Amino acid sequence: MDRQGEQPFDKQPLPALDGHGRAVPDGSMLRAFLSICKDIASDDDILSAGLSCLDPSKLICPICHARTSLIYHGYYLRHLVGIKDGKPDDRRIKVIRLRCISCNTTHAVLPLIAIPYCAFSIRFIARLILDHTEGTFQSIEALCAHYKISVNTFFRLKHRYLSCIRLTFGITAGTKRAISFSRDIITFDATSLSCLLEGFFLATDTSFCQGHFP
Ligand SMILES: [Zn+2]
Repeated sequence: MDRQGEQPFDKQPLPALDGHGRAVPDGSMLRAFLSICKDIASDDDILSAGLSCLDPSKLICPICHARTSLIYHGYYLRHLVGIKDGKPDDRRIKVIRLRCISCNTTHAVLPLIAIPYCAFSIRFIARLILDHTEGTFQSIEALCAHYKISVNTFFRLKHRYLSCIRLTFGITAGTKRAISFSRDIITFDATSLSCLLEGFFLATDTSFCQGHFP
């Protein structure tokens, strides 16, 4: 793998850590989209609201599809590179784990702004693509230096992002659509963002920007 030009945030996948700093696998991912947190817009608020609003009894086991069978099973910490004041912000976030008492499998509940198997938040990628399409920086190298990623990582994220936009709006979706969609992701409150991302998830059976499509 070419590691030339690697920047601080390129070491993917970043390990998930349990409460004692030990690496743990992400395991089965479960998305719990918010619908009761209007007027919340910042990443910090969305993350904390996601934890406080989570009601395991309303979720369905993704393996056996049993209802009301998921119970709290602890949590682990993982890295997530988001955006704060226009700059990359590397933080540790808490990921809740649930266990299904019907089939005994465990599942990680990924926060709204996180993407499975990706170190970057959805808003980090949206901001990156918006700055690129609007020509905020003089060159791709300058853009990548600001966001502390390599050029290779930029093109990988851009490819994922634009692929998802074409899946949503059709193969003719171009730069204008990418700009308006990115602005929506960056500025929406939690409820609107949740509806947007849940719609994509339900239509494609994968999370926006996840990287692999069925
Ligand atoms: Zn189950």
